[in-house]
Amino acid sequence: MNAGSGVYRARCLPVNAPDYMTGQAPLDVAPDLAERRCLIMKKLGKVCEVREYLSPHRQAGRRIGFVPTMGALHEGHRSLMRAARKGCEQVIVSIFVNPTQFGPGEDFQKYPRMLDADLAACQAEGVDAVFCPPVSEVYPAGSATIVTVKRLTEALCGAHRPGHFDGVTTVVTKLFNIVQPDAAYFGQKDAQQATVLRRMVTDLLWPIEIVVCPTVREPDGLALSSRNAYLSPAERRQALSLSAALFRARDEILAGQKDVAALVAAMRERIESAGPCGIDYVEIVDADELTPLATARGRCLVALAVRIGGTRLIDNVVVDAG
Ligand code: AMP
Repeated sequence: MNAGSGVYRARCLPVNAPDYMTGQAPLDVAPDLAERRCLIMKKLGKVCEVREYLSPHRQAGRRIGFVPTMGALHEGHRSLMRAARKGCEQVIVSIFVNPTQFGPGEDFQKYPRMLDADLAACQAEGVDAVFCPPVSEVYPAGSATIVTVKRLTEALCGAHRPGHFDGVTTVVTKLFNIVQPDAAYFGQKDAQQATVLRRMVTDLLWPIEIVVCPTVREPDGLALSSRNAYLSPAERRQALSLSAALFRARDEILAGQKDVAALVAAMRERIESAGPCGIDYVEIVDADELTPLATARGRCLVALAVRIGGTRLIDNVVVDAG
């Protein structure tokens, strides 16, 4: 385990790497930024350390990109890091399993935690700093403040996971206050989350660009998710019915089918015929307002949440129905 804060070095890399804070570079290490970036990554556990680390970069006018995650990092997360790396001079990733976005009986305790592998993934993507705080650092004793986005959080997952989005908006507010990024990167995989956060940033007049990156999938269509690790091989096969149903709906909409009830019925059928499952919802809504549609028109979000075995999976596609 890499406990505490400090400089994280991948095991295969030289231990005499230069340090961003001191600017000291050994003579045998090329001093250019790109090279240094490959060699060194800060691991920060405290709010004050993040502020101290970022301060000179902010003062130098460097664009700061932020990727919030709960860890168990996969290609989906890494695609966000790569987008941030492309668009920003400083890239900071947070790894924090946020207790307040899990409901009672959900998987907070068993959520996969693999910090060493996660740090190696961040390092490989050229991330500059990783913030992995303990819960007490993010939620000081006696915490009593919750950030709520209304309306958009009542639809879809909000209707099935009471309090979930309050947990998300509260933690992201805290993280944004700590990092004060110029841009923050989120996945389309969590479409409602991205929509809610965009609304929050707009409403709170925050000068942060919200960048939403495409969902990364396995070659067979399954959307990557940290929770896929819970699936048995049979459940994983069954889970393919989710993306298959979404893709079929997308094709049908593009071919002219606009009747949402018929589209949803066909999707449910496909998912239920793949095996025993619990459908939380299968819906087609306006992609920006998340309001239900009777007829597909404009940018539609086709979204679903399905429980297979003990695992709750979400997925979606956006279709322009014209
Ligand atoms: P999480 O660690 O689940 O909180 O996710 C952190 C970020 O990664 C969120 O913005 C997610 O939307 C994004 N993400 C998760 N899975 C994927 C995926 N398959 N493709 C793209 N982004 C993803």
